[in-house]
Amino acid sequence: MSASLVSAAYLLSCILFILSIRGLASPETARKGNLLGIAGMSVAVGITFFSPEIKDIYWILLAILIGGLIGTTSAFKVKMTSLPQMVAAFNGLGGLSSVFISLAEITSGSQAYTTTSISLFIGAVAFSGSVIAFAKLQGLISAKAVVFPFQHLINAFLGLSVIGLCVAFSLSGNINLFYILTALAILLGFLLILPIGGADMPVVISVLNAYSGWAAVGIGFSLGNVLLIIVGAIVGASGTILSYIMCKAMNRSLANVMFGGFGNEKKAHDNETENQKTAKFGSPEDAAFIMENAAKVIIVPGYGMAVAQAQHVLKEMAFDLHERYGVEVKFAIHPVAGRMPGHMNVLLAEANVPYEDVFELDDINREFATADVAYVIGANDITNPLAKTDSSSPIYGMPVLDVEKAKTVFFVKRSLGSGYSGVKNPLFYADNTIMLYGDAKEVTEKIVSALEK
Ligand code: NDP
Repeated sequence: MSASLVSAAYLLSCILFILSIRGLASPETARKGNLLGIAGMSVAVGITFFSPEIKDIYWILLAILIGGLIGTTSAFKVKMTSLPQMVAAFNGLGGLSSVFISLAEITSGSQAYTTTSISLFIGAVAFSGSVIAFAKLQGLISAKAVVFPFQHLINAFLGLSVIGLCVAFSLSGNINLFYILTALAILLGFLLILPIGGADMPVVISVLNAYSGWAAVGIGFSLGNVLLIIVGAIVGASGTILSYIMCKAMNRSLANVMFGGFGNEKKAHDNETENQKTAKFGSPEDAAFIMENAAKVIIVPGYGMAVAQAQHVLKEMAFDLHERYGVEVKFAIHPVAGRMPGHMNVLLAEANVPYEDVFELDDINREFATADVAYVIGANDITNPLAKTDSSSPIYGMPVLDVEKAKTVFFVKRSLGSGYSGVKNPLFYADNTIMLYGDAKEVTEKIVSALEK
């Protein structure tokens, strides 16, 4: 096949990837975005078979078969709450393949020393960092931030050594330097991610995802492959933008996430509110009664809804309230509710909650003042008013849902415990708050039974 036809196919593939990213930006078009991505990847892989550099097709077919089998089975098996670790595993493999390609290039005599050493560096960090991220999220190692003496100093020294080795190898082409570079870059990835707490892993994964993209760009330059350069840049840029959006929504800087050891210590002022007031408790039947007599109910889902897999019964509750009792029901989604971007949107879409009932923070926040009930299910930090008032709080500045403005606020959770940030929520003790203790799914099931009586 002629080189120009291969280039045309690569261009088509790039266009499909860009349209895919665009589709993935909204829940309504996400399925289409996925299909476009699959089409783009199929064109890219398919046309590669016809490029003149490919000599032995059978090894590639075998790799596709094994990789495809592993990828398909894990995608079918993985639970929604385990998606972050699956992405971590796949990022790690992306980084590892950059390491292997770099090694193969250099050992087979390539002169592209600079780009290959840079992509090896980034790919190796993405690989070992993702291994740690996966192990923390999967509970294979402690999710706590592992802090050790002189940690920043050691990491800085290691980082500078790796950069120095990249420069030295680029100038000399000495293959031994390349091997040392590989080992040190892998070690750096381990040490960089180990001190980060498990709860920050979604941001870390997004950063590592960006790394694996930039590593692919470097490989693209080494191999002279335009498709790899463009697709790597798309992955690198979207991962970087996503990390920025996640940090902004949590009101943290990326440096604070990567080097802050967040989530490791409890804050001193955590227990103050608890000692001053007592919380009120209600039963699911009380909640059903109040909600069926309401004109407007706003549901606020959070991480606990995902853990309990309560989205289906929640949809049933919303349906009953609307169809049987004529209540206006809306869903309010905070940008960092749950543990990954779009977490709640995906779960609500899975339960077939109509898109027109689901509202982003900016579009719904004013409506809490006109709502009779805010039904907060498994959410905590995203409602915490301290984010607006307490400048010493770690969540200060994070935009939050103004649930306290509703006439009655129900919090469905198992205790008065804090969420991801470790900060207590004073709303649990507010006059208009009623705590509904229990698992999010079980409590909502009981409410549905009461509504259907
Ligand atoms: P939180 O982590 O603040 O709170 C979740 C609450 O769910 C907990 O307080 C817990 O309380 C409750 N819960 C857990 N399991 C259950 C269950 N089975 N049934 C009922 N309740 C349960 O979650 P939010 O969604 O409010 O906020 C998300 C947090 O995660 C934010 O701080 C955000 O910054 C952070 N984050 C989000 C990311 C994202 O991309 N979405 C990425 C990284 C961090 P209890 O134990 O009492 O039941």
